Amino acid sequence: MATAQQQTPTAARTGQQFLDGLRGDAREIWLNGEKITHPLEHPQLAEAARTMARVYDLQHQHADEMLAPSPDDGRLVNVTHLIPRSREHLERRRRAIELTAALTAGMMGRTPDYLNVTFACFAGRADVWARRGNEQGAANLVAYQKLMRDRDLSTTHSIMNPQVDRSKPEAEQAAGEVALHKVGETENHITVRGARMLATLAPYADELTIYPGSDIRPQDGDYALAFALPMGTPGLRFICRDSYSKQRSTFDYPLSSRFDEMDAVVIFDNVEVPKDRLFLCGDTEAYSEVITDTGWRGHIMHQAFTRAYVKLSFALGLGHMLANTTGVVRFDHIQEKLGQIWNMTELTRSGLISAEAGSHLDEGGVWYPDDRPFLALRGEMPKWLPYVNELLQLIGGGGFMATPSRADMDGPLADEIAKYYQAAGADAERRIRLFRLAWDYIGSDLGGRGELYERFYLSDSYRMTALAYKIADKSFPESLVEQFLEEPS
Ligand SMILES: Cc1cc2nc3c(=O)[nH]c(=O)nc-3n(C[C@H](O)[C@H](O)[C@H](O)COP(=O)(O)OP(=O)(O)OC[C@H]3O[C@@H](n4cnc5c(N)ncnc54)[C@H](O)[C@@H]3O)c2cc1C
Repeated sequence: MATAQQQTPTAARTGQQFLDGLRGDAREIWLNGEKITHPLEHPQLAEAARTMARVYDLQHQHADEMLAPSPDDGRLVNVTHLIPRSREHLERRRRAIELTAALTAGMMGRTPDYLNVTFACFAGRADVWARRGNEQGAANLVAYQKLMRDRDLSTTHSIMNPQVDRSKPEAEQAAGEVALHKVGETENHITVRGARMLATLAPYADELTIYPGSDIRPQDGDYALAFALPMGTPGLRFICRDSYSKQRSTFDYPLSSRFDEMDAVVIFDNVEVPKDRLFLCGDTEAYSEVITDTGWRGHIMHQAFTRAYVKLSFALGLGHMLANTTGVVRFDHIQEKLGQIWNMTELTRSGLISAEAGSHLDEGGVWYPDDRPFLALRGEMPKWLPYVNELLQLIGGGGFMATPSRADMDGPLADEIAKYYQAAGADAERRIRLFRLAWDYIGSDLGGRGELYERFYLSDSYRMTALAYKIADKSFPESLVEQFLEEPS
């Protein structure tokens, strides 16, 4: 019998609708010298496209938790598209993000919920975008967020300019020609040129979004831009890195065979941005304010650390099962290593709960998580997740190399493999499956990319830890010291 949810009209797309939506435009995705028209048509991109389709199907399988009525027309939309108005909304959103992350064990960081959360908080604080006469840009952004929600778009984003010379302002690098900037304007559009890095998920996106990622000088207004464009917009080119997807069985590469979300550099070759797709143009003060004053920091970290919690839980599961399989779990120092992974997992979970417990309505009417636990995690997570990889290596030892492939398992040596690869806690097949999975997590091309991603996707730990210190409330620590700096009365 159909449930009430199933009878309600829905704007949330299915996997098939997502795949169909990638057809038809003249997008320029370049991979290893080849121009790709649809990810399903390229063997190195096809399986991640199917994973993305499963992400879209997931919201229908968990409709009770992942879908809710749109405030505009009552159609069901993914809850990550909704502007949070209460603590319950944050908790509901976390559950939806957790379900999405669990599908890939946290390996895909840029599933659409990442930008759904970003644009929901941007639209919730349209007042910040509207400052200093940018009412039209703010209205465009609000309309765009509704479009994202109602068409359930898959979006990529690119907020950093290329690494030409990080010691100089962007306008002074390579004659100012490499960083994305405005080069012309008519009544209906602006023209932009330059490049940005990176755009994760590009082959699987319907639209590219551009918003601020770094500070710029007051005189560099041409570089202060925020907008969104369909992926097939003329002049827009995406150059992918090597594919880390392995066209092998899920036995051989359980993660790399399915979860390479791909990263690309985006080039703008005199691209026309229609004015109704322009959110910010020229205001260098707004360029930082839309990041600091919209609450983006707290909201995006709510998404990011929910995924990180899932990934840490997965790593804990791997370490625990590796250690039990080969019996090393009996050694104290292995238990301590597993305990360290548990500590990180639990501190992340506690940070999420604490952020929700301390959440409040901000001055723009959006429910904002307490960002203090997130600021602390933002400094630590880029160190924790790479360290977890080291701990897993120390737990698994050379076992990661004792991993014959599916072809070996099915070949003439099958009986010998069954005998010589058995472990105390598992038969040979299960042991090999587990070690191959763990190696795909820490040591394959995709595993290495995952480690780099965790170090940098929210900027680097060094600058984020310094920022956390700078903006922290230091009044209580100061008062504790102050009391001893005066003569007792
Ligand atoms: C796998 C992956 C996927 C990504 N996906 C996306 C995406 O989808 N969208 C997107 O917009 N971005 C994405 N990024 C880019 C990410 O935003 C940047 O990597 C991040 O902001 C750091 O910038 P950078 O890589 O240019 O490094 P850099 O800024 O060049 O830093 C390199 C090193 O120099 C140091 N450094 C640089 N500048 C300074 C300074 N001023 N002071 C002190 N130290 C400095 C840094 O601490 C770091 O150690 C992705 C990155 C990775 C690795």
